[in-house]
Amino acid sequence: MAHRIPVIDADECIACGNCEQVCPEVFRLNEALGHSEVINPGGAPEEKIQEAMDQCPVQCIHWQDE
Ligand code: SF4
Repeated sequence: MAHRIPVIDADECIACGNCEQVCPEVFRLNEALGHSEVINPGGAPEEKIQEAMDQCPVQCIHWQDE
């Protein structure tokens, strides 16, 4: 079965922190780097990850086939 993981386009990320707020199991804002990171791609159900993606103001979180 195909599995997909979320990836963040770090160049596009504006470090707003929305993704971490919606889904802290998967996303964490790295203030030192100035963008968010995927800390645990399988840490939450896809629906919750999708919700974080939908709330990203610059739409820079995407699904990638593993
Ligand atoms: S919601 Fe989008 S812009 Fe905001 S920190 Fe997360 S990845 Fe970056």
